[in-house]
Amino acid sequence: MGSLNHSDQQHFLLCPFMAQGHIIPMVDMGRHFARRGIYVSLVTTPLNASRVRLAIDRASRCYGLPIRLVELRFPSAEARVPEGCESFDTLPSADHMKGFFEATELLKQPLEQVLSADRDFPPPTCVVSDTFLPWTMDIARGLGIPRLVFHGTCNYSLIVIESLRRHSSEGPEEEMVAIPDVPCGLEMKRGQLLVSPSSLGLTEYEARMVKADADSEGVVVNSFDEMEPQFVEAYERLIGKKVYNVGPFSLYDEEVQTERGNKSSIDQDKYLSWLDSHEPGSVVYVSFGSIARLGLKQAMEIGEAMKGSGRPVVWVVKQGKEIESWVSRFGEGLDWLVIVGWAPQVAILSHKAVGGFVTHCGWNSTLEGLCAGVPMVTWPLFAEQFVNERVVVEVLKVGVRVGIEVHAGWGEKVVVGREEIGVALERVMEGERKGLRGGGE
Ligand code: UDP
Repeated sequence: MGSLNHSDQQHFLLCPFMAQGHIIPMVDMGRHFARRGIYVSLVTTPLNASRVRLAIDRASRCYGLPIRLVELRFPSAEARVPEGCESFDTLPSADHMKGFFEATELLKQPLEQVLSADRDFPPPTCVVSDTFLPWTMDIARGLGIPRLVFHGTCNYSLIVIESLRRHSSEGPEEEMVAIPDVPCGLEMKRGQLLVSPSSLGLTEYEARMVKADADSEGVVVNSFDEMEPQFVEAYERLIGKKVYNVGPFSLYDEEVQTERGNKSSIDQDKYLSWLDSHEPGSVVYVSFGSIARLGLKQAMEIGEAMKGSGRPVVWVVKQGKEIESWVSRFGEGLDWLVIVGWAPQVAILSHKAVGGFVTHCGWNSTLEGLCAGVPMVTWPLFAEQFVNERVVVEVLKVGVRVGIEVHAGWGEKVVVGREEIGVALERVMEGERKGLRGGGE
C-alpha cells in the first residue's frame, strides 16, 4: 500500500495475546473494524502471523480492506522459552507460562520502532489490547491515544474476575466462596476460581495488568447485550467504564469459518459429506480447545463413554502421539470421525447433524456452541472456564455438567469416569434436549 496522509482517518492497533483463544477473536474483530473503513494493524509474531495470514490476506487482497499484519520477532531466547513456542498451545507445559508472559513485554520496544518508521498506514488512533499485555498502555500513552482492553470472556465472568481482584481470600480448595457483585448471587468452590498470573509468580506483572486496565478507556467484549443484559449493566457499574459488546465474533463472516486459527487438518468435502450423512441433532462433537492436554487414561474413559452411547461422534484429538493413535485405533469400525489436529470448529458446530458439544468451556468455544444452538456437556479445566460453565448451566440453562470440581491444570490432573460422562451426555442428547435447545428444535 502506498504512502498516506489521512489526518482524520481511524487506525486501530490490535494487540492480541499469543494464544489461539485470544488471537482468533481479535482477527475476527479486526476484519469487522476494517469492513467499517477503519485501518487495522494486527500486531503479532511470525508463527502466529503464519496462522492468520490467509484470513488477513483474503480481507486485504480480495476485498480491499485496510487491514495488515505487523510482525515482531518473538524473543524466545531472551525469555528462555523454547524456540518456536510463540503461542500458548505450542508450550511444552504450563511450567513455561511465566517465561512466556515475560517474553511478551520485550515486544514493546520493537513495536515502538516499527510504528515510528511506519509510512504506509495513518497514525494509530486507538489501541485495542489484550488484558495480558499491560505494556500496550505505554504505547497508547506515548502516542496520546486511548486504549481499550479485551479479555476474551463474557460480562458474567468479567464481573467474577474483577470481584475476585477486589475481595480475594485464602482458604481450602473445597470451601465455598461467595462472589460479591454478581447479580443473583454466586458461590463457587475456591478450587474452581481463577488461577491468576500472580499464582505463577507474576505478582508485579498482574499489578501492571490491573493498572493498565483501570487506566483504559473502555472494554471490548465478545458477547452481546441480549444474552446477558443484567450482567452487562452490572459490569459497567462495577468498573465505571463503557463496555462495548461487539460479539459474537464467530458469526461475522461465514466465508472464513473454516479459516480460523490453524489450517484445518481435514478436507471440507470429507467432514461435510460425513456430517451430511447423519440425522439432524444426532452427532456428538468432542473438543477441548487449543491448549488442554488430557491424559491417555482420560481419553480411554471418553472413548468408552462415547462407544457406550452408540452415537455418531466427531472427536478432535490433539493431545500427543500416544493419545492420537489410541483414539484413531479405538474409533476404527465405529461411526466416528476422528480429527487429529485442528478442526474447523465453527463450521462443524453449525452443521445441523450436530446435537451435542462436549466442551472445556473456553469462552470462544462456549459462544460458538451457543450461536449454533447446540447444548453442551460442560467440562471446565482451567482459567475462567468454571465461571463460563455457570453461564451455560445456570444462567442460560443449555448445558449439563460432567462434574469436575476443581481446576485440573491443563487437563492432565483429572480423570472423569465413563459413567459420569455417559450420564451427562444422555441428559444433553436425549432427556433434556428440548429444554436445553430453548424449548424446541
Ligand atoms: N478451535 C478450532 N479448532 C480446534 C480447536 C480450537 O477452530 O481444533 C478454535 C475454537 O473454535 C475457538 C478457539 O479455537 O475459537 C479456542 O478458544 P477457546 O476460548 O474455546 O479455548 P482455548 O483454546 O483458549 O482453551
